[in-house]
Amino acid sequence: MLDCLVIGGGPAGLTAAIYLARFHLSVAVVDAGHSRAGLIPLSRNHAGFPEGISGADLLARMRAQARLYAATFHDRRVETLERAAEGFFASAGSMDFAARSVLIATGVVNRRPAMLSDAVHDEALANGSWRYCPICDGYEVTDKRVAVIGTGERGCNEALFLRSYTAHITLVAPQSGHELCEAQYALLREAGVRVAGSCRAIALEGKAICLDVNGDRLTFDGVYPALGSDIKSELAGMVGAAMSTEGCLTVDAHQRTNVPSLYAAGDVVLGLDQISHAMGEGGVAATTIRNDLARQTPLRR
Ligand SMILES: Cc1cc2nc3c(=O)[nH]c(=O)nc-3n(C[C@H](O)[C@H](O)[C@H](O)COP(=O)(O)OP(=O)(O)OC[C@H]3O[C@@H](n4cnc5c(N)ncnc54)[C@H](O)[C@@H]3O)c2cc1C
Repeated sequence: MLDCLVIGGGPAGLTAAIYLARFHLSVAVVDAGHSRAGLIPLSRNHAGFPEGISGADLLARMRAQARLYAATFHDRRVETLERAAEGFFASAGSMDFAARSVLIATGVVNRRPAMLSDAVHDEALANGSWRYCPICDGYEVTDKRVAVIGTGERGCNEALFLRSYTAHITLVAPQSGHELCEAQYALLREAGVRVAGSCRAIALEGKAICLDVNGDRLTFDGVYPALGSDIKSELAGMVGAAMSTEGCLTVDAHQRTNVPSLYAAGDVVLGLDQISHAMGEGGVAATTIRNDLARQTPLRR
């Protein structure tokens, strides 16, 4: 019986694992290996790294730090989560875990346009022409030619957010076309954002990225998809955790879900999707878990 099973080994889960292991609690991290942080070629807004740090490097450092204090790691996907007489029972293929408490730190997955091949995606992500997070790296497209692929409130807001970095913004519709109301067209017009038709194809041209927009070839230095995310909250749903209509888990100020002994942290929780926030929530969750466990059975050396 573990004191805590952490599901998800991104910045939120790893921060929690470091804290929990240093509280002398038994903790295992099960991670399916698709952290959004792992996609970051170089983060320049993560405090403490003025030269920037790649997501892979950051994750490796955090894993090594958790291992120093005897947290264990299992690179696999948790398939099911059930309530048990004392805590939870999780199944991950050929391995099962029993734990007094569970932290859900399973993150989200950004949606991509269907016509974007994996090869073009990976190369464009690495060379900085395909980006997901204006808060993280809008600075890097200052005064550059930028497209936002999206529409509606989400696409409109992302284009307007990026307008504070560059005057050269085009809002390109997804394949299904634009769904913008008159007020949104007016806001975009007033901000000088160009509104273009539907994206049919995406290709790289050196460091630039070309979109086929209704037969016209438009070239950009950077493209942001604003197509939303899939929230990885299914496991929490299996034990009855409350979530928003989009699937983000709702927690109290101490990262407790509505299910006793089930906690959540990071992008899977409603809030700012940033490394610093995920780490902060991971630290809060771990401390709450420690204190809640101590209330059940005093922790003594
Ligand atoms: C390209 C890109 C650039 C970014 N740049 C920055 C930046 O510069 N600065 C910044 O602050 N933020 C940045 N972000 C956002 C940042 O990566 C996320 O906010 C952060 O990774 C969230 O951490 P997390 O631990 O909540 O989730 P994640 O890092 O996504 O980790 C979740 C983990 O849970 C695992 N998992 C999911 N389901 C299961 C399951 N059933 N069983 C086991 N494991 C499971 C996943 O495989 C994954 O490894 C960027 C994101 C992207 C995509």
